[in-house]
Amino acid sequence: MTFTKDQIVQLEKLVEEANDITLITHANPDADTVGSALALHNVLVQMGKKAQVVCPNPIPDFIQWMHNIDTVIVHDREGRKVQRLVENADLIFAMDFNAPHRTSNIEKSMMETKAKKVLIDHHLFPDEDYFDLMFSFPKKSSTSELLFDILRASNYKKYINKEIATNIFVGLMTDTGSFAYNCNQPETFETAAELIRYGVEVKKTHDLIYNNNSIDRIRALGYSISERLRVFPKQNAAYISLSAEDLTRYGNGEGLTEGIVNYALSIQGICFAALLTEKGDKIKISFRSKGTYDVNAFARKYFEGGGHHNAAGGKSFLSLEKTEQKLEELITNLEIPC
Ligand code: 5GP
Ligand code: MN
Repeated sequence: MTFTKDQIVQLEKLVEEANDITLITHANPDADTVGSALALHNVLVQMGKKAQVVCPNPIPDFIQWMHNIDTVIVHDREGRKVQRLVENADLIFAMDFNAPHRTSNIEKSMMETKAKKVLIDHHLFPDEDYFDLMFSFPKKSSTSELLFDILRASNYKKYINKEIATNIFVGLMTDTGSFAYNCNQPETFETAAELIRYGVEVKKTHDLIYNNNSIDRIRALGYSISERLRVFPKQNAAYISLSAEDLTRYGNGEGLTEGIVNYALSIQGICFAALLTEKGDKIKISFRSKGTYDVNAFARKYFEGGGHHNAAGGKSFLSLEKTEQKLEELITNLEIPC
């Protein structure tokens, strides 16, 4: 399944008619949402459009080197400005999320804006009533890969350059865990090959993402695994839980805990993993699974969240201890095939 020529024509028409364009990322932005938004932003600016990328909250440190990252405006820091940019835009793009509530503090402006609304995303269950035009393809590895397909199928192909290709490559690489999952189809690798033709430097880009850890991050990882990991061998499940105090001890940098959940999932015989982090008045939870167990359904049902089949997120407003208890009770009653 792919998009139609008619969808591309509609997209080009909406862009042509718009002057003020705002591209929105999801909350707790990752490299896919930021990379795809900045790549499309680059195209729009080359076309002479007034375009702006906005994020609900700060961008993690490990992608602070991405091309044009300094142009992004963050709601947590400049709320009024982001509000104006969303509410006064002619056209908004939702990059890598399926519904306005995924933007936390930008949701209200998204509901109030008179702008036309375009979705470019690979999450299940898009909010069909909200968007005027949808590119929603849950089978795609990443929104970045989907955007690259859209650009190549449109009149925007001529604007693709090394910077755009690199931002797209970063989204694709990180959403597939460095080409390990969500990429068991030739198209994803063909996309990667094409991006390299546009000048992507694979080793350099990989090093910037994966071999660029702060000491705090590595120590936080060690502590998480040695002190905060609980394993339920009978249920094929494991989770790591980090309190606000734990996070403070390691500097609480943006993206400090990114990827830690994967270490719990990497244990032999573990097919369900979670990471609990205490953030202000709520507990943020990341879920991961191997194989058939659907963590998207689990996150939706028990933790006000969602995501993908093997990678989802959610939240809890109970204390950390009570959230751990709730999760442990659920795990104890789960049948997780492995
Ligand atoms: P992460 O664990 O990396 O924060 O999120 C994993 C996946 O689940 C991502 O695709 C993300 O977009 C999605 N996700 C994370 N938190 C939430 C949430 O609270 N609600 C929904 N619907 N999806 C989420
Ligand atoms: Mn994504």
